[in-house]
Amino acid sequence: MQVPASFQYRKATSVAHALSLLAEYGPEARVVAGGHSLLPMMKLRLAHPEALVDINDLAELAEIRVEGGALVIGALVRHAELLSSAVAGRHFPILHDAERVIADPIVRNRGTVGGSLCQADPSEDLSAVFAALRAELVVRGLDGERVVAARDFFVGPYETVLADGELLVAIRVPIRPSVSAYVKVDRRAGDWAVGAAAAVLELAGGVVAEVGIGLTALGARKFVAAEAEDHLRAGPPSGERFAEAARIAAAHCAPTADQRGPVDYKRHLAGELVARALRGAVGRAA
Ligand SMILES: Cc1cc2nc3c(=O)[nH]c(=O)nc-3n(C[C@H](O)[C@H](O)[C@H](O)COP(=O)(O)OP(=O)(O)OC[C@H]3O[C@@H](n4cnc5c(N)ncnc54)[C@H](O)[C@@H]3O)c2cc1C
Repeated sequence: MQVPASFQYRKATSVAHALSLLAEYGPEARVVAGGHSLLPMMKLRLAHPEALVDINDLAELAEIRVEGGALVIGALVRHAELLSSAVAGRHFPILHDAERVIADPIVRNRGTVGGSLCQADPSEDLSAVFAALRAELVVRGLDGERVVAARDFFVGPYETVLADGELLVAIRVPIRPSVSAYVKVDRRAGDWAVGAAAAVLELAGGVVAEVGIGLTALGARKFVAAEAEDHLRAGPPSGERFAEAARIAAAHCAPTADQRGPVDYKRHLAGELVARALRGAVGRAA
């Protein structure tokens, strides 16, 4: 049986309390939300925090609402809650596309949106989705609040711009008319992605006014296929342009070989999935 090293456990009663507990225990303290990523790592001794600050009682972080022209998703919102949120699905169907294929109901009932982003696992589905949506991440520390673009949040695998003692409190997605889709290939239902693609298009006057393309588990820098976005911006949303954008995305990503497949296969997948996500998004407009 795998057991973690010993640690202190403190339950936060408010965001301010969580921040003061994180400051009290210093850099060796970790937040625990759903625990679905952190606890397995502790059991394997890949993480050994001296203290866990439990944020599960913080109802203020568990809301989904529309505020100031944005969909605001609290960091503690569970995957299952986002999946069943009508307001989220109405504005951004891509959120439901992604949540539907994250793990299984047991994980979705406990795992949180904020935990997924803070874990920054290259295979985490929501990182590419929020990068494609150009979401803003609201981060709070003892010194106040700052807002970080989702695209700037990820430094590398398992690494974000969060400083010691900071808490991700919410994700804000500006509401603009858009069409969106997320497409994932996994080996079995509920498995981590072999590869996946997110597409968000803002269409105006017959052209692509803005576009976001995200890639999961396919070695895209900060989860974004930026060169493919550049190709599509300001042109018509045509099949030929989508095919070229897909080719560009495949050429610029840097997947690694693992038990889920070799590099060539994953590169092929990147192109195919980007094309499918773009077509799926535009299909929704129709
Ligand atoms: C069997 C299994 C299958 C899975 N399959 C998938 C899948 O297919 N796709 C997918 O995307 N994910 C998958 N996951 C991961 C799942 O989505 C987790 O819920 C998620 O990775 C972490 O969320 P959590 O709330 O459990 O975070 P935790 O494990 O509690 O925390 C993860 C990390 O984030 C930090 N953290 C958490 N919340 C905050 C916060 N608000 N502010 C600052 N730091 C914070 C913690 O300190 C820790 O470092 C799977 C997990 C399991 C166990």
